[in-house]
Amino acid sequence: MKAIIIGAGMGGATAGIALQNMGCRVEIYESVREIKPVGAAISIWPNGVKCLNFIGLQQQIKTLGGNMAAMAYRDYRTGETLTQFSLRPLVERVGEYPYPVARAELQSLLLDALGRERISLGKRLVELEDDGRQVTAWFEDGSSASGDLLIGADGAHSVVRGYVLGHTVERRFAGYVNWNGLIAAENGLAPADQWTTFVGQGKRVSLMPVAGGRFYFFFDVPLPQGLRQRSDTAKEDLRGYFAGWCAPVQRLIDRLEPAGVNRVEIHDIDPLEQLVRGRVALLGDAGHSSTPDIGQGGCAAMEDAIVLANLLRTHSLGIEDTLRRYQESRRQRVGSLVLKARKRCDVTHGKDPAATEDWYRSLARETGEHIIDGLADTIEGGPL
Ligand code: FAD
Repeated sequence: MKAIIIGAGMGGATAGIALQNMGCRVEIYESVREIKPVGAAISIWPNGVKCLNFIGLQQQIKTLGGNMAAMAYRDYRTGETLTQFSLRPLVERVGEYPYPVARAELQSLLLDALGRERISLGKRLVELEDDGRQVTAWFEDGSSASGDLLIGADGAHSVVRGYVLGHTVERRFAGYVNWNGLIAAENGLAPADQWTTFVGQGKRVSLMPVAGGRFYFFFDVPLPQGLRQRSDTAKEDLRGYFAGWCAPVQRLIDRLEPAGVNRVEIHDIDPLEQLVRGRVALLGDAGHSSTPDIGQGGCAAMEDAIVLANLLRTHSLGIEDTLRRYQESRRQRVGSLVLKARKRCDVTHGKDPAATEDWYRSLARETGEHIIDGLADTIEGGPL
């Protein structure tokens, strides 16, 4: 069997490894000429970690992952702890650790495991054709590639999605802007083994431990779309949005290097009814682009990859039949993650200010049990 994969992000690369492990020939076509990770870091929750374990990267992900032993929410103005608790009960319940990792390091891990020679760079998919026996992908440079199936792992702006659905889908602006980056961990910011989040005014500032004594930091601010801001004005912009916030937040803004800060307007896409057409399947953000509010988009892409590879290995009624089974086993799961993230997004970012104030008050009563239940439900909905 030969699979053509469009896109070498975390979804496409994981699918490539999983398919190769089952003996499938894989060719990946990627539009950019040089692969650079978008964003500084990412939290891989235990459902995603299990997918990496499944494709043979157990030791490597453990090495790259930060030690996130505890979780805390703090008041934006005073810095006082609203709630703080160990994540050990979560790990014991679901059987694996969460690992926040630097994106560049995760990307290198996946591409090395895949074999970089499998990836053709500078190949932008523009069209595809499924004749019932083979799928052919056509690229902007006039070249083409054919295989028994094609996996569209071409991200939130997917071209393959348009083919599968027969129409284009509008992305929905989620109402906030996220700035993120990496910074050396220090106690003046937060404990080095804790995911710490400062909340207030519908905004948040978060610090997550990443290996190598670093924090992955991010700032969220509810804002309109299309403001004329650049990453290099991040310091001034953030000073304005976070005026009056507590000392660790001011220290974080003082310390950050604007050149290393990403600024992202957050979007998602309504859950899709269809993830496959004939011999073509959508995987990752191409099929379910969500807001990052539950940190599950990349994890879900890796789940897609291992579910698809397993179905292809274990079913023999033909590729179209197997892809339909893939759609049936993933549609509800990925749709529910998109909606769960959207709901969390609205509460965190003050869409209904009264609901957000209720949430702040509930944090002050939280012992960790309720939050861990929510995290575990999401994680346990995964395939492993
Ligand atoms: P992508 O990573 O977007 O990769 C798609 C690839 O396809 C790209 O390399 C692109 O160049 C290529 N491509 C696009 N069009 C074409 C074409 N026409 N032809 C050929 N190639 C093409 N997820 C988590 O699990 N945990 C988190 O903590 C988390 N935090 C996040 C924070 C932020 C701020 C954001 C924005 C997202 C976050 N996510 C998180 C979501 C996660 O980043 C995505 O879900 C994940 O990167 C999706 O991977 P993918 O491979 O599907 O798509």
